[in-house]
Amino acid sequence: MLNSAGTIQSIEIRYLEAKLDKPFGWSQRWTTSRSIIILKLTTSENYVGWGETYGSYNTCLEMKSLAELVIGHDSDNINKINNKIFDQTFQSHAFAGAASSFVSALDIALYDVRGKFLNEPISTLLGGCLKRNIPVYATGLYYLEGFPIKPHLDEALGYVEKGFTGMKMKIGGLSINDDAKRVNQTREAIGPNIKLMIDANEAYDKRTALEMSELVSDDKITWFEEPCPSRDFHSNLYVTENSKIPISGGESLHTSLEFSRVISENVFDIIQPDICSVGGVSEMRKVGSMANSFGVKINPHFWGTGISFAAVLHCMSVQPILNNSQINSPYENQSVLEFDQTPHPIRDELTDRFILKNSSVEVPQKPGLGIEINEEVLDKYLKGEIINV
Ligand SMILES: [Mg+2]
Repeated sequence: MLNSAGTIQSIEIRYLEAKLDKPFGWSQRWTTSRSIIILKLTTSENYVGWGETYGSYNTCLEMKSLAELVIGHDSDNINKINNKIFDQTFQSHAFAGAASSFVSALDIALYDVRGKFLNEPISTLLGGCLKRNIPVYATGLYYLEGFPIKPHLDEALGYVEKGFTGMKMKIGGLSINDDAKRVNQTREAIGPNIKLMIDANEAYDKRTALEMSELVSDDKITWFEEPCPSRDFHSNLYVTENSKIPISGGESLHTSLEFSRVISENVFDIIQPDICSVGGVSEMRKVGSMANSFGVKINPHFWGTGISFAAVLHCMSVQPILNNSQINSPYENQSVLEFDQTPHPIRDELTDRFILKNSSVEVPQKPGLGIEINEEVLDKYLKGEIINV
C-alpha cells in the first residue's frame, strides 16, 4: 500500500453557468441563471478531489495564481497547504476576494482526496459521526415576477407534502406591510406545526428590521435571517438584542477570523457559515467549534451543488449538539442545514440527488465526499476557458 496520496499535480478550475426558464428574486435582485465554480484536483498518484465555490469567471482567473502556489505540495498535509495560502494572502487582505473562494474549494478537494486515499468518509477523518442523518429545511419561496401569492402558497404546501418540517421564505423585496402579509398568509397555509423562517438578505436598517420583526411576531417565526448588512455588526447586534424573534446571519463571511467577533460578541443568535465561502471543511470546523464554545447556534448556509452539500453534511455530522438533553431536537439544540429547493440545473445533474427522509438527509458513507461527479455536465455548462494549473 502506498503511504501517500501524492503531491498536487494539477488543478482545473471551471466556471459553470445555466440559464433558467423563469427568473426568481430576493430583496437585492432577480436572477435568470445559476452558476458555480468547480475545482478538480489531481495528485501524482492519480487521486482526484472535487471542490466548489462561488464567484465569476474573473474569480477563476484570480484563483489561478493561488493554485500555482500549491502545485507540487504534499496533498496529505492539508494544514500546511492552508497555512501557506493564509500566509501569502491574509497580509494583503486578499481574503476579501478570490483567496477565500480558492481556499474553500481547495480544502474541500483535499479532504475528498484524503478520504479516498484512506478509504474513509470525511466524517471519519474529522473524528467520527455523531449523527448519520442531518436535519434539513427547505429553502425556496423566492419572489416571482408580479409577486403572485397563489404559486407561493402552493410551493409552501408542496414542501409540507414532501415531508419537510421547516421552510424559509424571502422578505425585504416589498414594503414591510406587504411582506408581513405574505408571511401571515404563509403561516396560515402551512399551519402551526411547521417551522417558518424569514430571510431579508440584508434589506433593512436596524429600526425597520425591528418593525418587521414586530409585524410578524404572531406568526411563530423560528428565525429572522440577515435583517441588516452582514458586516454592519452594530446594527445586527442592536436587532439581535431587541427582537423577540432570534436573529441569524453570516452566510457571506469568510474564515474563522471574521466569525470570531460575530460569535464572541453575540452579533447573531444563530450563525450561518457557507462552506464555499468560509474556507472549506477546515474553517467550517473551526467556526463550528467556536460557536459551540460560546453557546451560539450554527445552521449552515447552502447554495451550491452536491459537492458542497456533501462537504457540509460531513461537517454537521461531527458538530456536537449545543446542550445535552435526552431529547435532541432540530432547531432547539441540534443544528439544521439549509436544503436549497430552487431551480439549479447544474446541481440537479452534476451529482446524485440527496434523498429527503424524515426531514433529514443521510451523511454519505463512501470514501471522501462520498459522491460521484458526472463530468459531462462540466462540459455542458462550461463558460469561458478551463483554467489549467
Ligand atoms: Mg440567506
